[in-house]
Amino acid sequence: MNLEKNILDRFLRYTAVDTMSDPDALASQHPSTDGQWDLLRMLEKELRQLGIEDVLLDSNGVVSANMKANKEGLPSIAFMAHVDTASDCNGNHVKARIVNDYDGEDIKLSSKLTLDVKSNPELSKYKGETVIVTDGTSLLGADDKAGVAEIMAAVETLVSDPSIKHGPVQIFFTSDEETGCGMDYFPMDRFSSEACYTADGGVRYVVETECFNAATVDVHFTGVSAHLGSAKNRMVNAVTMASHFISAIPQAQSPEATDGRDGYWCPYSIEGSAADVKVKLFLRDFDYDKLLDRIEALRSLAQTVGKLFAGGVVAFKSKVSYRNMNEACLKNPKATELLFKAGEQLGMPLRTELIRGGTDGARLAEKGIPCPNLFTGGDNYHSLKEWAALPAMADGARLIVQIIRCWAQD
Ligand SMILES: [Zn+2]
Repeated sequence: MNLEKNILDRFLRYTAVDTMSDPDALASQHPSTDGQWDLLRMLEKELRQLGIEDVLLDSNGVVSANMKANKEGLPSIAFMAHVDTASDCNGNHVKARIVNDYDGEDIKLSSKLTLDVKSNPELSKYKGETVIVTDGTSLLGADDKAGVAEIMAAVETLVSDPSIKHGPVQIFFTSDEETGCGMDYFPMDRFSSEACYTADGGVRYVVETECFNAATVDVHFTGVSAHLGSAKNRMVNAVTMASHFISAIPQAQSPEATDGRDGYWCPYSIEGSAADVKVKLFLRDFDYDKLLDRIEALRSLAQTVGKLFAGGVVAFKSKVSYRNMNEACLKNPKATELLFKAGEQLGMPLRTELIRGGTDGARLAEKGIPCPNLFTGGDNYHSLKEWAALPAMADGARLIVQIIRCWAQD
Protein backbone atom coordinates (compact mmCIF):
# COMPACT_ATOMS: atom_id res chain seq x y z
CA MET A 1 0.00 0.00 0.00
CA ASN A 2 1.39 3.43 -0.76
CA LEU A 3 2.37 5.65 2.13
CA GLU A 4 -0.30 8.33 1.63
CA LYS A 5 -3.11 5.77 1.45
CA ASN A 6 -1.71 4.00 4.51
CA ILE A 7 -1.65 7.24 6.52
CA LEU A 8 -5.07 8.39 5.33
CA ASP A 9 -6.69 5.06 6.27
CA ARG A 10 -5.07 5.16 9.68
CA PHE A 11 -5.90 8.80 10.27
CA LEU A 12 -9.60 8.32 9.45
CA ARG A 13 -9.73 5.20 11.63
CA TYR A 14 -8.13 7.00 14.60
CA THR A 15 -10.09 10.26 14.29
CA ALA A 16 -13.35 8.27 14.33
CA VAL A 17 -12.61 7.22 17.93
CA ASP A 18 -13.89 9.69 20.57
CA THR A 19 -10.80 10.52 22.63
CA MET A 20 -11.47 14.04 23.86
CA SER A 21 -9.83 14.31 27.30
CA ASP A 22 -11.56 15.99 30.24
CA PRO A 23 -9.55 17.91 32.85
CA ASP A 24 -12.52 17.82 35.24
CA ALA A 25 -12.65 14.02 35.23
CA LEU A 26 -8.99 13.58 36.16
CA ALA A 27 -9.70 13.54 39.87
CA SER A 28 -11.76 10.38 39.49
CA GLN A 29 -10.11 8.48 36.65
CA HIS A 30 -7.02 8.22 34.49
CA PRO A 31 -7.10 8.39 31.51
CA SER A 32 -9.81 10.99 32.02
CA THR A 33 -12.16 9.56 29.36
CA ASP A 34 -13.02 5.98 28.34
CA GLY A 35 -12.68 6.62 24.62
CA GLN A 36 -8.93 6.97 25.01
CA TRP A 37 -8.82 3.31 26.05
CA ASP A 38 -10.52 2.35 22.77
CA LEU A 39 -7.81 3.97 20.69
CA LEU A 40 -5.02 2.70 22.95
CA ARG A 41 -6.36 -0.85 22.58
CA MET A 42 -6.66 -0.39 18.81
CA LEU A 43 -3.02 0.72 18.60
CA GLU A 44 -1.84 -2.10 20.85
CA LYS A 45 -3.57 -4.59 18.54
CA GLU A 46 -2.28 -2.98 15.34
CA LEU A 47 1.31 -2.95 16.61
CA ARG A 48 1.02 -6.68 17.39
CA GLN A 49 -0.47 -7.31 13.95
CA LEU A 50 2.57 -5.60 12.46
CA GLY A 51 4.67 -8.25 14.15
CA ILE A 52 6.04 -6.22 17.07
CA GLU A 53 6.35 -8.77 19.88
CA ASP A 54 6.95 -6.57 22.90
CA VAL A 55 3.83 -4.40 23.10
CA LEU A 56 2.29 -3.34 26.40
CA LEU A 57 -0.82 -1.35 27.21
CA ASP A 58 -0.35 -0.60 30.90
CA SER A 59 -3.01 0.13 33.50
CA ASN A 60 -2.21 3.87 33.33
CA GLY A 61 -3.20 4.18 29.68
CA VAL A 62 0.15 4.18 27.92
CA VAL A 63 1.06 1.91 25.00
CA SER A 64 4.76 1.12 24.83
CA ALA A 65 6.33 -1.04 22.15
CA ASN A 66 9.88 -2.23 21.54
CA MET A 67 10.92 -2.91 17.99
CA LYS A 68 13.98 -5.13 17.78
CA ALA A 69 17.10 -3.91 15.98
CA ASN A 70 18.05 -5.55 12.70
CA LYS A 71 21.61 -4.26 13.02
CA GLU A 72 23.87 -4.73 16.02
CA GLY A 73 25.51 -2.06 18.17
CA LEU A 74 23.16 0.83 17.55
CA PRO A 75 21.59 3.07 20.22
CA SER A 76 17.88 2.90 20.91
CA ILE A 77 15.67 5.85 19.96
CA ALA A 78 12.03 6.52 20.74
CA PHE A 79 9.00 8.17 19.13
CA MET A 80 5.99 9.43 21.02
CA ALA A 81 2.51 10.80 20.29
CA HIS A 82 -0.67 11.26 22.31
CA VAL A 83 -4.09 9.71 21.66
CA ASP A 84 -6.31 12.31 23.33
CA THR A 85 -7.68 15.46 21.75
CA ALA A 86 -8.22 18.85 23.35
CA SER A 87 -11.45 19.93 25.06
CA ASP A 88 -11.26 23.59 23.94
CA CYS A 89 -14.05 22.79 21.52
CA ASN A 90 -16.00 19.59 20.81
CA GLY A 91 -13.54 16.81 20.02
CA ASN A 92 -15.92 13.85 19.72
CA HIS A 93 -18.04 12.52 16.83
CA VAL A 94 -15.43 13.76 14.38
CA LYS A 95 -16.56 13.48 10.78
CA ALA A 96 -13.39 14.13 8.84
CA ARG A 97 -13.95 15.27 5.26
CA ILE A 98 -11.43 14.55 2.53
CA VAL A 99 -10.94 17.25 -0.06
CA ASN A 100 -9.25 15.62 -3.04
CA ASP A 101 -7.54 17.73 -5.67
CA TYR A 102 -8.02 20.86 -3.56
CA ASP A 103 -8.78 23.85 -5.79
CA GLY A 104 -6.91 26.43 -3.68
CA GLU A 105 -10.11 28.32 -2.76
CA ASP A 106 -11.85 28.84 0.61
CA ILE A 107 -13.35 25.61 1.94
CA LYS A 108 -16.92 25.75 3.24
CA LEU A 109 -17.02 23.54 6.35
CA SER A 110 -20.69 24.06 7.21
CA SER A 111 -23.42 26.62 6.66
CA LYS A 112 -21.81 28.71 9.41
CA LEU A 113 -18.11 28.07 9.05
CA THR A 114 -15.58 28.57 6.26
CA LEU A 115 -11.88 27.80 6.24
CA ASP A 116 -10.53 30.77 4.34
CA VAL A 117 -7.22 30.97 2.55
CA LYS A 118 -6.57 34.55 3.61
CA SER A 119 -6.27 33.71 7.30
CA ASN A 120 -4.77 30.27 6.52
CA PRO A 121 -2.03 30.98 3.96
CA GLU A 122 -0.50 27.54 4.60
CA LEU A 123 -3.53 26.05 2.78
CA SER A 124 -2.47 27.56 -0.54
CA LYS A 125 0.61 25.31 -0.58
CA TYR A 126 -1.63 22.30 -1.14
CA LYS A 127 -3.47 23.24 -4.32
CA GLY A 128 -4.07 20.07 -6.31
CA GLU A 129 -3.34 17.91 -3.26
CA THR A 130 -5.48 16.17 -0.62
CA VAL A 131 -6.43 18.09 2.50
CA ILE A 132 -8.60 16.88 5.36
CA VAL A 133 -11.05 19.19 7.12
CA THR A 134 -13.89 19.02 9.64
CA ASP A 135 -17.65 19.38 9.15
CA GLY A 136 -17.51 22.46 11.37
CA THR A 137 -18.98 20.73 14.45
CA SER A 138 -15.78 19.39 16.02
CA LEU A 139 -12.03 19.67 15.87
CA LEU A 140 -10.27 17.26 13.52
CA GLY A 141 -7.87 15.59 15.91
CA ALA A 142 -4.74 15.92 13.77
CA ASP A 143 -3.32 16.97 17.14
CA ASP A 144 -2.18 14.36 17.70
CA LYS A 145 -3.69 11.55 15.63
CA ALA A 146 -1.68 12.75 12.63
CA GLY A 147 1.41 12.04 14.76
CA VAL A 148 0.02 8.65 15.81
CA ALA A 149 -0.76 7.70 12.18
CA GLU A 150 2.69 8.80 11.00
CA ILE A 151 4.52 6.82 13.66
CA MET A 152 2.40 3.74 12.87
CA ALA A 153 3.02 4.12 9.13
CA ALA A 154 6.76 4.51 9.80
CA VAL A 155 6.74 1.29 11.86
CA GLU A 156 4.94 -0.48 9.04
CA THR A 157 7.55 0.81 6.57
CA LEU A 158 10.38 -0.60 8.70
CA VAL A 159 8.61 -3.91 9.18
CA SER A 160 7.89 -4.37 5.49
CA ASP A 161 11.34 -3.31 4.25
CA PRO A 162 14.12 -5.20 6.04
CA SER A 163 16.70 -3.45 3.85
CA ILE A 164 16.23 -0.41 6.14
CA LYS A 165 18.80 -1.03 8.84
CA HIS A 166 17.95 0.24 12.31
CA GLY A 167 18.74 -0.06 15.99
CA PRO A 168 16.12 -0.66 18.68
CA VAL A 169 13.09 1.62 18.19
CA GLN A 170 10.68 2.36 21.00
CA ILE A 171 7.14 3.64 20.47
CA PHE A 172 5.05 5.38 23.13
CA PHE A 173 1.40 6.40 22.81
CA THR A 174 0.29 8.41 25.83
CA SER A 175 -3.10 9.61 27.03
CA ASP A 176 -4.25 12.89 28.61
CA GLU A 177 -1.52 15.08 27.11
CA GLU A 178 -4.00 17.90 26.63
CA THR A 179 -4.89 17.94 30.33
CA GLY A 180 -1.19 18.30 31.14
CA CYS A 181 -1.04 14.87 32.75
CA GLY A 182 0.36 12.83 29.88
CA MET A 183 3.67 12.24 31.59
CA ASP A 184 2.48 11.74 35.16
CA TYR A 185 2.19 8.01 34.50
CA PHE A 186 4.90 7.60 31.88
CA PRO A 187 6.48 4.13 32.18
CA MET A 188 10.09 5.25 32.75
CA ASP A 189 10.99 1.64 33.57
CA ARG A 190 10.16 0.76 29.95
CA PHE A 191 12.16 3.67 28.53
CA SER A 192 15.71 2.91 27.43
CA SER A 193 16.41 5.32 24.57
CA GLU A 194 19.04 7.96 23.97
CA ALA A 195 16.53 10.37 22.45
CA CYS A 196 12.76 10.63 22.11
CA TYR A 197 11.17 12.46 19.20
CA THR A 198 7.62 13.61 19.80
CA ALA A 199 5.45 13.71 16.67
CA ASP A 200 3.18 16.46 17.98
CA GLY A 201 4.01 19.54 15.91
CA GLY A 202 2.13 21.51 13.31
CA VAL A 203 2.71 22.62 9.75
CA ARG A 204 5.14 20.98 7.34
CA TYR A 205 8.89 21.35 7.90
CA VAL A 206 8.62 23.11 11.27
CA VAL A 207 10.44 21.31 14.07
CA GLU A 208 10.89 22.45 17.63
CA THR A 209 13.64 22.04 20.18
CA GLU A 210 12.68 24.87 22.54
CA CYS A 211 9.61 25.34 24.67
CA PHE A 212 8.66 27.47 27.65
CA ASN A 213 9.67 26.94 31.25
CA ALA A 214 6.36 26.92 33.07
CA ALA A 215 5.15 27.49 36.60
CA THR A 216 1.78 27.64 38.31
CA VAL A 217 1.21 29.99 41.23
CA ASP A 218 -1.72 29.78 43.64
CA VAL A 219 -2.43 32.73 45.90
CA HIS A 220 -5.05 32.50 48.63
CA PHE A 221 -6.33 35.77 50.12
CA THR A 222 -8.22 35.38 53.38
CA GLY A 223 -10.14 38.42 54.57
CA VAL A 224 -12.08 39.14 57.74
CA SER A 225 -15.87 38.94 57.50
CA ALA A 226 -18.20 41.41 59.13
CA HIS A 227 -21.74 42.71 58.71
CA LEU A 228 -21.43 45.32 56.00
CA GLY A 229 -23.41 47.84 58.03
CA SER A 230 -20.90 47.73 60.85
CA ALA A 231 -17.81 46.79 58.89
CA LYS A 232 -15.81 49.91 59.64
CA ASN A 233 -12.40 49.03 61.09
CA ARG A 234 -13.37 45.36 61.19
CA MET A 235 -13.85 43.94 57.76
CA VAL A 236 -11.00 43.01 55.47
CA ASN A 237 -12.26 42.33 51.94
CA ALA A 238 -10.43 39.49 50.18
CA VAL A 239 -11.88 40.57 46.81
CA THR A 240 -10.22 43.98 47.21
CA MET A 241 -6.95 42.31 48.23
CA ALA A 242 -7.01 40.06 45.17
CA SER A 243 -7.87 42.90 42.81
CA HIS A 244 -4.92 44.96 44.12
CA PHE A 245 -2.66 41.99 43.56
CA ILE A 246 -3.86 41.32 40.00
CA SER A 247 -3.88 44.96 38.90
CA ALA A 248 -0.21 45.32 39.88
CA ILE A 249 0.82 42.68 37.31
CA PRO A 250 2.09 44.42 34.17
CA GLN A 251 -0.36 44.08 31.29
CA ALA A 252 2.50 44.42 28.83
CA GLN A 253 3.73 41.03 30.00
CA SER A 254 0.51 39.09 29.46
CA PRO A 255 -0.06 36.32 26.87
CA GLU A 256 -2.22 38.69 24.84
CA ALA A 257 0.59 41.27 24.65
CA THR A 258 3.59 39.02 23.98
CA ASP A 259 4.98 36.73 21.32
CA GLY A 260 8.32 35.34 20.15
CA ARG A 261 10.80 34.93 22.98
CA ASP A 262 8.96 37.08 25.54
CA GLY A 263 7.63 35.44 28.67
CA TYR A 264 4.48 36.35 30.58
CA TRP A 265 2.38 36.38 33.71
CA CYS A 266 -1.22 35.28 33.27
CA PRO A 267 -3.87 35.47 36.01
CA TYR A 268 -5.91 32.50 34.82
CA SER A 269 -8.68 31.91 37.31
CA ILE A 270 -10.20 33.69 40.28
CA GLU A 271 -12.87 32.44 42.61
CA GLY A 272 -14.24 33.35 45.99
CA SER A 273 -15.98 36.12 47.88
CA ALA A 274 -15.19 38.86 50.40
CA ALA A 275 -14.21 36.21 52.95
CA ASP A 276 -11.62 34.50 50.78
CA VAL A 277 -10.41 34.51 47.20
CA LYS A 278 -8.21 32.05 45.33
CA VAL A 279 -6.23 33.23 42.34
CA LYS A 280 -4.35 30.92 39.99
CA LEU A 281 -1.66 32.26 37.68
CA PHE A 282 0.40 30.76 34.88
CA LEU A 283 3.97 31.99 34.45
CA ARG A 284 6.03 31.30 31.34
CA ASP A 285 9.56 32.15 30.26
CA PHE A 286 12.12 30.62 27.90
CA ASP A 287 14.85 31.47 30.42
CA TYR A 288 14.61 29.38 33.58
CA ASP A 289 16.26 31.97 35.86
CA LYS A 290 13.82 34.58 34.63
CA LEU A 291 10.93 32.22 35.41
CA LEU A 292 12.25 31.95 38.97
CA ASP A 293 12.51 35.77 39.09
CA ARG A 294 8.88 35.99 38.02
CA ILE A 295 7.84 33.64 40.83
CA GLU A 296 9.77 35.72 43.37
CA ALA A 297 8.27 38.98 42.07
CA LEU A 298 4.76 37.57 42.60
CA ARG A 299 5.71 36.25 46.02
CA SER A 300 6.84 39.67 47.22
CA LEU A 301 3.81 41.31 45.60
CA ALA A 302 1.54 38.92 47.50
CA GLN A 303 3.40 39.63 50.73
CA THR A 304 3.07 43.37 50.15
CA VAL A 305 -0.68 43.07 49.64
CA GLY A 306 -0.83 41.09 52.88
CA LYS A 307 0.92 43.93 54.70
CA LEU A 308 -1.26 46.65 53.14
CA PHE A 309 -4.44 44.94 54.39
CA ALA A 310 -3.84 44.50 58.12
CA GLY A 311 -5.75 41.48 59.39
CA GLY A 312 -5.88 39.85 55.96
CA VAL A 313 -3.83 36.73 55.33
CA VAL A 314 -2.05 35.78 52.11
CA ALA A 315 -0.81 32.27 51.35
CA PHE A 316 1.45 31.71 48.35
CA LYS A 317 2.27 28.45 46.58
CA SER A 318 4.33 27.95 43.42
CA LYS A 319 5.23 24.90 41.34
CA VAL A 320 7.42 24.55 38.27
CA SER A 321 5.36 22.39 35.91
CA TYR A 322 7.79 21.84 33.03
CA ARG A 323 11.18 23.01 31.78
CA ASN A 324 12.48 24.24 28.43
CA MET A 325 13.60 21.13 26.56
CA ASN A 326 16.39 23.11 24.91
CA GLU A 327 18.75 22.38 27.81
CA ALA A 328 18.70 18.64 27.10
CA CYS A 329 18.88 19.19 23.32
CA LEU A 330 21.99 21.37 23.68
CA LYS A 331 23.68 19.00 26.11
CA ASN A 332 22.95 16.09 23.83
CA PRO A 333 22.98 17.64 20.34
CA LYS A 334 23.04 14.37 18.39
CA ALA A 335 19.23 14.08 18.34
CA THR A 336 18.82 17.49 16.73
CA GLU A 337 21.81 17.07 14.41
CA LEU A 338 20.49 13.79 13.05
CA LEU A 339 17.01 15.26 12.67
CA PHE A 340 18.40 18.00 10.42
CA LYS A 341 20.62 15.51 8.59
CA ALA A 342 17.53 13.39 7.88
CA GLY A 343 15.68 16.44 6.59
CA GLU A 344 18.58 17.36 4.36
CA GLN A 345 18.82 13.85 2.90
CA LEU A 346 15.10 14.03 2.05
CA GLY A 347 15.38 17.53 0.62
CA MET A 348 13.04 18.92 3.31
CA PRO A 349 13.79 22.53 4.28
CA LEU A 350 13.33 22.02 8.03
CA ARG A 351 13.22 25.11 10.20
CA THR A 352 12.97 25.55 13.96
CA GLU A 353 10.36 27.55 15.78
CA LEU A 354 9.79 28.21 19.46
CA ILE A 355 6.93 26.42 21.20
CA ARG A 356 5.06 28.96 23.31
CA GLY A 357 3.82 26.07 25.39
CA GLY A 358 5.13 22.68 26.42
CA THR A 359 5.20 19.14 25.11
CA ASP A 360 5.19 15.73 26.68
CA GLY A 361 8.83 15.66 25.61
CA ALA A 362 9.63 18.58 27.90
CA ARG A 363 8.96 16.30 30.86
CA LEU A 364 11.46 13.73 29.54
CA ALA A 365 13.94 16.52 28.79
CA GLU A 366 13.99 17.27 32.51
CA LYS A 367 15.67 13.90 32.88
CA GLY A 368 18.29 14.93 30.31
CA ILE A 369 16.72 13.10 27.35
CA PRO A 370 16.66 15.25 24.20
CA CYS A 371 13.11 15.34 22.78
CA PRO A 372 12.82 17.38 19.56
CA ASN A 373 9.25 17.80 18.34
CA LEU A 374 8.43 16.90 14.71
CA PHE A 375 5.84 18.46 12.42
CA THR A 376 2.79 16.31 11.69
CA GLY A 377 1.16 18.34 8.91
CA GLY A 378 -1.88 19.73 10.76
CA ASP A 379 -2.89 23.32 11.47
CA ASN A 380 -5.40 25.37 13.55
CA TYR A 381 -5.21 22.95 16.45
CA HIS A 382 -7.88 22.93 19.17
CA SER A 383 -10.44 24.55 16.87
CA LEU A 384 -13.35 23.70 14.58
CA LYS A 385 -11.18 24.90 11.69
CA GLU A 386 -8.43 22.36 12.30
CA TRP A 387 -7.19 20.83 9.06
CA ALA A 388 -4.35 18.63 7.83
CA ALA A 389 -2.58 18.13 4.52
CA LEU A 390 -2.03 14.53 3.43
CA PRO A 391 1.30 15.18 1.62
CA ALA A 392 2.61 16.87 4.78
CA MET A 393 1.53 13.90 6.89
CA ALA A 394 3.31 11.53 4.49
CA ASP A 395 6.41 13.71 4.79
CA GLY A 396 6.09 13.45 8.57
CA ALA A 397 6.25 9.64 8.30
CA ARG A 398 9.14 9.81 5.80
CA LEU A 399 11.07 12.02 8.17
CA ILE A 400 10.58 9.54 11.03
CA VAL A 401 11.91 6.69 8.87
CA GLN A 402 14.86 8.80 7.73
CA ILE A 403 15.74 9.80 11.32
CA ILE A 404 15.85 6.10 12.15
CA ARG A 405 18.13 5.49 9.14
CA CYS A 406 20.41 8.36 10.20
CA TRP A 407 20.87 6.92 13.68
CA ALA A 408 21.94 3.68 11.98
CA GLN A 409 24.37 5.41 9.62
CA ASP A 410 26.07 7.31 12.37
ZN1 LIG B 1 -0.64 17.67 20.82
